[in-house]
Amino acid sequence: MAYHRYDAVIVGAGGAGLMAAIQMAGKANIAVVSKLYPPRSHTGAAQGGISAALGNTEEDHWQWHMFDTVKGGDYLVDQDSAEVLAREAIDAVLELEHMGLPFNRTPDGRIDQRRFGGHSRNFGEGPVRRACYAADRTGHMIIQTLYQQGIKHNVNFFDEFHLLDILFTDDGECCGVIAYEIKTGELHTIHAKTVLIASGGYGRVYKITSNAIAGTGDGVALAYRRGIPLMDMEFYQFHPTGLYKLGILVSEAARGEGGIVVNGEGEAFAARYAPTMKDLAPRDMMSRFIYQEVKEGRGIDGKDYVLLDVSHLPPEVIDEKLPDVTDFARVYLGVEPKNEGIPIQPTAHYAMGGLPTNNNAQVILDPAGTVVPGFYSAGESACVSVHGANRLGTNSLVDLVVFGRRAGRHMLEEIQSRELAELPANPEETAAKEIADLLNRDKGERVADIRKAMQEVMMDKVSVVRNETGLLEAQKEIADLQEAYRHIAIQDKGKRYNTDLLEALELGCMLDCAETIVHGSLVREESRGAHYREDFEARDDANWLAHSMISRKDRGFEVQKKPVKITIFEPKERKY
Ligand SMILES: Cc1cc2nc3c(=O)[nH]c(=O)nc-3n(C[C@H](O)[C@H](O)[C@H](O)COP(=O)(O)OP(=O)(O)OC[C@H]3O[C@@H](n4cnc5c(N)ncnc54)[C@H](O)[C@@H]3O)c2cc1C
Repeated sequence: MAYHRYDAVIVGAGGAGLMAAIQMAGKANIAVVSKLYPPRSHTGAAQGGISAALGNTEEDHWQWHMFDTVKGGDYLVDQDSAEVLAREAIDAVLELEHMGLPFNRTPDGRIDQRRFGGHSRNFGEGPVRRACYAADRTGHMIIQTLYQQGIKHNVNFFDEFHLLDILFTDDGECCGVIAYEIKTGELHTIHAKTVLIASGGYGRVYKITSNAIAGTGDGVALAYRRGIPLMDMEFYQFHPTGLYKLGILVSEAARGEGGIVVNGEGEAFAARYAPTMKDLAPRDMMSRFIYQEVKEGRGIDGKDYVLLDVSHLPPEVIDEKLPDVTDFARVYLGVEPKNEGIPIQPTAHYAMGGLPTNNNAQVILDPAGTVVPGFYSAGESACVSVHGANRLGTNSLVDLVVFGRRAGRHMLEEIQSRELAELPANPEETAAKEIADLLNRDKGERVADIRKAMQEVMMDKVSVVRNETGLLEAQKEIADLQEAYRHIAIQDKGKRYNTDLLEALELGCMLDCAETIVHGSLVREESRGAHYREDFEARDDANWLAHSMISRKDRGFEVQKKPVKITIFEPKERKY
């Protein structure tokens, strides 16, 4: 059992965690814990861009960006937070540029910008160029840039350490974490004044997803087990253009550059549903349009997919601006995008829900906003909420840098004003027992079977379109799988690089995320953004213009409603 003491421990070395770390480096004693080697974090897979109203190629204003974010999120966005996002995006992107991020440039040398779904000129008049980008590998460039800054500033990295537990005092102050060293199997207690969870999303609960295999919601689930409510879990985004059957993402940048989605009759159907934004309608809508086309028999050859067509674009646009995503189509589907359409279907992509936070990234405990001392979250694990019921493309990367930066700055203040809280007696007890139970059981259920069943039921019954019957079935199935999980056995009993053990731990976290997604979806009897209920097709502002905060209570659930902050834009029907 190793013991460490820091001012701050950051769990997660993606864009959010690293941005926070850079703020604190040299000013406080900090550690960054990551189950992956940092540049392998999912941020590195982000493709299309990061939005900021720089106005480099055409007129733009942060107020327009704020409006699009609120409307894109189907008015569930907290508008004070959206204002922070849209205003601070500008400076945050310039900060990335000054750190050395190699953005694409305009002919006169400024950061180039392109179109993306739901981003509009003058409060909805038509598409605007707001996404700053580095070809279709923007995230790769961000993670490399931030990681280099971390190295330069001597951040203490605990690479390949897996978070197992988050520690709180009896008074509810956060005081550290327990991590498992993957190389040795040793447990480490990291005692700290402040903890930031920046552990990313949980797309792996679904069968078809764009997320990397590490997207298992560990930080979110571990906090939930410690009594922190989760917010807006029913809002899970499906991205319309995942490679058919594989879910690998083809960035919205393909449509931003002029690509169109066509059905089995060769029709560019988006225009029929969204006459102004057409193929650049937001993701929740585009995913539903595809669902509808397929349901009405207009998939390709009557099957459950449609085509993303970029073949009419100049070859140099494909080579220079969309090199990676078009390569995915060649490598994985054997399709040449310069000549033919790319088979696509909606793919589980982004968690709008997560740990509820305020604008300083402090985790809150209840609808009144009571802060948990010392406890923070930023990035995809957090729900501020700037994305409401549906995130706009390019708004996650901005969220990481804006709220990662705010987290780091606020943690610095808290480090100065608070004493180190005492650890609970036997801090490692829960984690040690969990590991021992898994290693000691010789016979039992298989991790792979439970994971497969979970991913299938989530895909079939809790994805783009939902209804009560399906959700009740999913709820029962997830509960049964939770029960089966209590009896799993793993093969590898070793201490070094025991991936069997890690996969089991991750599955436990995914089941917790799944249970809250399902329950949240059942309770919310309306359709809003990514949450579409066939049995409650309308948005119901009278009852549901509110965030849901879900906690586990005596084997059941408690759901509290938190009012949405509306500052400027009154909720309206969304038309694109
Ligand atoms: C294919 C793809 C393309 C995308 N393209 C875009 C885009 O163009 N624009 C945009 O705005 N958004 C995009 N997104 C979304 C965006 O990339 C993510 O939401 C964002 O990168 C998440 O960043 P993060 O810092 O929250 O977490 P991540 O980058 O996911 O990092 C999570 C970190 O947590 C660590 N971690 C997790 N669990 C544990 C544990 N148990 N113990 C220790 N460490 C742990 C991991 O090691 C990792 O370092 C894309 C997403 C995908 C999947």
